[in-house]
Amino acid sequence: MNKNDCSIDLHCHTNASDGALSPEQIVERAVRFGITHLAISDHDTTSGILRAQNRALLDDFKGQIEIIPSIEISTTFTGHQIHIVGLFINPLSQAMTDLVAAQFEKRKERASRIALKLEKLGFDNIAEEIAKDHSPDDVITRGNFARYIFEKGAASSFDEAFNKYLKRGKPAYVNSQWIGVDDAVKIIHMAGGIAVLAHPGRYQITNAKLRELICFFKDAGGEAMEICSCQQKPAERDFLANLAVQYGMLGSAGSDFHLEGAYRELGYNIALPMKVTPIWEDPRFAKFFNNLDRAVTGRK
Ligand code: AMP
Ligand code: MN
Ligand code: MN
Ligand code: MN
Repeated sequence: MNKNDCSIDLHCHTNASDGALSPEQIVERAVRFGITHLAISDHDTTSGILRAQNRALLDDFKGQIEIIPSIEISTTFTGHQIHIVGLFINPLSQAMTDLVAAQFEKRKERASRIALKLEKLGFDNIAEEIAKDHSPDDVITRGNFARYIFEKGAASSFDEAFNKYLKRGKPAYVNSQWIGVDDAVKIIHMAGGIAVLAHPGRYQITNAKLRELICFFKDAGGEAMEICSCQQKPAERDFLANLAVQYGMLGSAGSDFHLEGAYRELGYNIALPMKVTPIWEDPRFAKFFNNLDRAVTGRK
């Protein structure tokens, strides 16, 4: 599979939030890259899932790819913004529709405040400009603002847009109070899903705080943590694998793909280390995955 070493990718984004591709386009890309199982996990919205599933059901792709209904929920843990992925959630459950509606309002208000700050910095009509590429129920994250700033040439990269304007301490930063990690786990379970702590290595918190987070998440009923995302040092991956073993967490793997041409790619460099038990090997959850025999997991 080239560098796309795992055909099960349990985290990616469409333009229902801050991904660049439509749900249909991401399924087409995934099939091209040999992905057999793809979770559509947009920030705080489930609106891309049905379109992705419908694309996967068309004749040319039938039987080739399983779309896993998913969401990436924004939460706050002791002042830090933490992402919790729900896999195999029922988007139509009351718990999920209530959550999505509440997060949408929070996101809308936050996006307006970010836009106001950016307008003062010279980005005229930025909210309206970004809205042109979106339907009204799409979720606008800092990722959407970063891409716009980059495309306007006001930053040399997506990351630089964060470093110059959007991250904590920078002029367009807006502090956000999301729901608790435990609330997110509860909602995911009420919606029939599995709770996964997303990219635990990316929070810029101390190791002690990370251990505290993992314990809190596990006590709340969280089942798994992402061990592999594609842009990651081998030492970080090994560290996370050891934490998963120590705390009895299942392992998940997801590219967190957002856009073409960036360093993250569907199924790229996300094979789980042997010491970790993947979600799909757990007796409770293996049955959630259709056609698992078709998957290539590249584990080493
Ligand atoms: P939000 O949930 O609105 O705060 O935005 C989340 C999106 O911004 C996610 O896709 C993150 O990957 C991205 N993001 C957050 N912080 C950074 C950063 N420092 N550099 C690049 N991307 C970031
Ligand atoms: Mn994002
Ligand atoms: Mn995230
Ligand atoms: Mn993500």
